[in-house]
Amino acid sequence: MQLSIVVPCYNEEEVFPETAQRLGVLLARLTESGKVAANSKIVFVDDGSRDRTWTLIEEMAARDSWFEGLKLSRNRGHQNALLAGLLSVDGDALVSIDADLQDDINAIEEMVDRYHDGYDVVYGVRSAREADTAFKRLSAQGYYRLLGFFGVDVVFNHADFRLMSRRVVEALRQYGEVNLFLRGLIPLLGHRSTSVYYARTERFAGESKYPLRRMLSLAVDGITSFSAAPLRHIAVLGIFVSLMSVGIMGWVLWIRLFTEQAVPGWASSVLPIYFIGGVQLLSIGILGEYVAKLYAEAKNRPRYFVEKHVGGQKSASEPEVQPDTYR
Ligand code: UDP
Ligand code: MG
Repeated sequence: MQLSIVVPCYNEEEVFPETAQRLGVLLARLTESGKVAANSKIVFVDDGSRDRTWTLIEEMAARDSWFEGLKLSRNRGHQNALLAGLLSVDGDALVSIDADLQDDINAIEEMVDRYHDGYDVVYGVRSAREADTAFKRLSAQGYYRLLGFFGVDVVFNHADFRLMSRRVVEALRQYGEVNLFLRGLIPLLGHRSTSVYYARTERFAGESKYPLRRMLSLAVDGITSFSAAPLRHIAVLGIFVSLMSVGIMGWVLWIRLFTEQAVPGWASSVLPIYFIGGVQLLSIGILGEYVAKLYAEAKNRPRYFVEKHVGGQKSASEPEVQPDTYR
């Protein structure tokens, strides 16, 4: 079984040497034990880094035939970089893992074991989150709940650390989505899946490349790319508010026609204006979110371009330019 480990890297010069070294040791162990074939490899995807990451990757790929490098033409974000790696490399099984060593690389061996047991997808699930800040922990847990509420099928506490078999990757290739949320997509592919558990640690070095803004945008993608439930909830809210206003109308008319207390009510006219105004704005906002999605999908733009692919079978001095965008 040929294993390919795919590692997206964005400005990771600080952790890269350590990551490459540790993954190299791991792969050596796995090949020696015969669990994976000798032509297994580690593929670093440079997501348009502005630091020395690509230089380091190139050096590594030239030095050691286990390492390959893939350079995207510019920064396309973690999900696109990961997809580029997955769809560009060969291998019977592919493992994706972050470059920062937050995920326990020793879990890869267990994933490989599960693959040999006949599983097509093996999710890496965090059993402990002590290393995360309280904010990240709480927001992540709340978010998984929210996804569940909207009927999005994701594995609790699993990010993008997983093993996929060749046929699962080929299935993934057929999804042309522009708004990528891989951890929502993979469960849709089916086939036998299982989980392995590991403790998530702190970033080995460097800073998070996922600022809050990007995290929020990924979070929104996770819901709007997989669930139309918010649209339905708006409709239900709309029906509820409409029925309520019919009731209020009846009450107002009754006061006006059959009683003497028809004092012009400031509160009862001003409050609904705010309330309904708020509901409308919220609804339009959610609709807008979906319209934006449609807009992006309708354009169907290529998700990334591979600028260079070095190492492995190809010679490093002759990088292969791939015209295909793997859409
Ligand atoms: N990453 C990437 N492109 C980006 C941002 C991040 O390829 O635009 C990579 C990054 O190098 C790392 C992984 O995605 O390997 C996860 O990022 P990070 O560890 O910074 O996220 P966090 O763990 O803080 O959520
Ligand atoms: Mg990280």
